[in-house]
Amino acid sequence: MAKHITSATWSKRLSKAVRRPVGGVHPDDQKAAQAVATETLPLPAQVKLAVTSVTPAGCRLLVRPGDLVAVGQPVASPVDLMSVPVHASVSGRVLSVDEATNLNGQRCPVVVIASDGRQTQWEQLQVPAVTDFASFRQAVRASGVVGLGGAGFPAFFKLGSAPGQSIDLLVANGSECEPYSASDARDMLENGAEIIAGIRAVLDYAQIGQAIIGIEGNKPDAIRHLSELAAADERIRVRVLPRRYPQGGEKQLVYAVSGRRIAGGALPSAAGALVMNVSSLAAIAVYLKTGQPLTQRRITVTGPAFDRPRNLMVPVGTPVSQILTYVGGLHGAAASLIQGGPMMGRLVEDYEAGTLKQTNLLLGLTAAQTQKQAEQACIRCGLCAEVCPMSLQPSEMNQLVLLGRYQEAADRYYMKDCIECGCCSYICPAYRLLTQSFVYGKQQLKLAQRQATQGGQAQ
Ligand code: SF4
Ligand code: SF4
Repeated sequence: MAKHITSATWSKRLSKAVRRPVGGVHPDDQKAAQAVATETLPLPAQVKLAVTSVTPAGCRLLVRPGDLVAVGQPVASPVDLMSVPVHASVSGRVLSVDEATNLNGQRCPVVVIASDGRQTQWEQLQVPAVTDFASFRQAVRASGVVGLGGAGFPAFFKLGSAPGQSIDLLVANGSECEPYSASDARDMLENGAEIIAGIRAVLDYAQIGQAIIGIEGNKPDAIRHLSELAAADERIRVRVLPRRYPQGGEKQLVYAVSGRRIAGGALPSAAGALVMNVSSLAAIAVYLKTGQPLTQRRITVTGPAFDRPRNLMVPVGTPVSQILTYVGGLHGAAASLIQGGPMMGRLVEDYEAGTLKQTNLLLGLTAAQTQKQAEQACIRCGLCAEVCPMSLQPSEMNQLVLLGRYQEAADRYYMKDCIECGCCSYICPAYRLLTQSFVYGKQQLKLAQRQATQGGQAQ
């Protein structure tokens, strides 16, 4: 089934050096958690499962308060073309199913389950029967796996709808370029065989000829381990990347490992590439082997506001407060908790919210680290444009957003291509809130588009 490529072809491809990423910055990577083995969090008393879907109301709820559920049982199933099921991560009784705000600040149904402490597995769990691309894609969807590097986009949807067409390169994303984050690095060390199995499954069923695992050079143990494991399959190679943020962005990663450029607004498939996170690939392999869907994941809990870095295996939906209690809490009354890294993460406002499938990092920062500097006037230094990985003009876009000229910022300066990486804000000597202004500007454009659509439908 797999398209095998010759060693000569590989040698030719590997002779090409890794491309230096366009733009980007070098924040202190703070990867102490990479050296810490994963421990299992004691079972929480309850979990809060956010039923998020790609489209509004894209999932149908399958449980009601009072229902008994087992681990791996679906509590919500997709009704649109893009969403994935949500599975119970503990066995026990459903306490409530209400609309609430999830850890990402989105309103959605949340299923609260009180654990019975037994972790009984759902009796209908079974190894999926996978024989071809269609059944493989269906299995990946049934696994509930999403982009576990933080993006949260359904993994099955990235596979496309037909094998062997335009994609000839799978890029396994092990770059984990955000400072402090370490869950992928631990997965590469602790679940390397599953990652390779997931890569091989995608290559076989999607009929893709080659895979490159992109890993930043600050993970030497993971590079060594995966290189050893990959040696058994000539289709798979590890490529060591220079440390650079945001190396893990899809466009940046595909360019770094293959030299293929992806135009603004286009997907990696336009360059013949499919990008999947290494932990997502491992979770897919586990489902194919055992029938166990995604009900738990590794979360790195680290930062100066904690006593030491940790990696915890946590049931999806565990309230953040239970994790904080286990690790001894944040030090300092004014400390802040960020979900995700310091560049792209967001402040956790509700410690009772449950973790999401894509929650990979809880970062505790001290009051001094989160102190805001007053914005000053732009000094036209050009640094923001220099570091922008999308080759945008952040200072110009910022001026237009502040004037409410969002469409002009999009038309003249391609604001919609902004990946919200935070590099421009990080580098700006005038402390201008550049990234925040683009997030806001893009929201305003979406709002205007929705209003125009609704207005058109009403006529
Ligand atoms: S980095 Fe800041 S000060 Fe420099 S040009 Fe950009 S917005 Fe202006
Ligand atoms: S946040 Fe947007 S504009 Fe700023 S550097 Fe990143 S991609 Fe460029």
